[in-house]
Amino acid sequence: MTENITELSQLRRLLEVWRRDGLRVGLVPTMGNLHAGHFSLVRQIRERVDRVVVSIFVNPTQFGAHEDFGCYPRTPEADVAGLVQQGCEAAWMPSIETMYPFGIEQAVRMHLPGISDILEGALRPGHFDGVCSVVTRLLHQVRPDVAAFGRKDYQQLAVIRRMVDDMAIPVEILAGDIVREDNGLAMSSRNQYLSAEERERATGIFHSLCGMRDAAMAGMDSTEVESAAQRSLHHAGFGIDYAALRKPDLTVPEAGESGPRVALIAARLGNTRLIDNLEFSIC
Ligand code: AMP
Repeated sequence: MTENITELSQLRRLLEVWRRDGLRVGLVPTMGNLHAGHFSLVRQIRERVDRVVVSIFVNPTQFGAHEDFGCYPRTPEADVAGLVQQGCEAAWMPSIETMYPFGIEQAVRMHLPGISDILEGALRPGHFDGVCSVVTRLLHQVRPDVAAFGRKDYQQLAVIRRMVDDMAIPVEILAGDIVREDNGLAMSSRNQYLSAEERERATGIFHSLCGMRDAAMAGMDSTEVESAAQRSLHHAGFGIDYAALRKPDLTVPEAGESGPRVALIAARLGNTRLIDNLEFSIC
């Protein structure tokens, strides 16, 4: 049975019962409009814990003033039906007032310097402050043994790992692989904004990431890899925010340096902004 929880007191009662019984709890934080990417996190965390809580909260503090907070797809009934099917024990669906009891303006501000200020953080100032704020709140509310995040939001995962380490938050972070459509497009709630024609064109992001991987593995210099990807995205009609080749900690690799890499792209089709990434290794 999936408990549908909107009040903190309800959540606390349920968690108390589980803890008394010595059960391990997992948390999958989401903004709802659930798809196969979210459900794969539920399935993976299920292997590590006895009870799974999925939070559904469209977090206002991680959206910029001109971003899509107002029209972000909200589908609570379908989400709960999906969680029932997944056998998830609780859907935690707090209101904005429950999440930010003193109001957004009076809420504790968090900023993780460095890793929050580059790439996504440079283009969306304050975005990761909002992410850190809401994830910290969720971790305090649920106090899970394990929390799952997708590699789809690569930088978000890196920011959360750093925050958890820095603040000694006692939780294990589980990273889930990116779930893609058959054509390579990474699943995302924002794919719904795309027309059928744009959806087809959006696969250009995955193709560019594969091109970056192949070029880097063939020995092409990082800056050339990035420029080539930007050119191919531009020709495919994207507005480009970045196409970057980085080390796993998101620092810039030295020329000729081998080791693990991640190619990251943020690009726009019309009004829709998409992000994706691909991990690989240079021997
Ligand atoms: P969101 O609801 O977009 O905030 O995403 C909630 C969680 O699901 C985040 O940890 C995301 O990284 C993860 N996620 C979203 N899309 C995917 C995907 N296509 N594959 C794997 N994880 C995903």
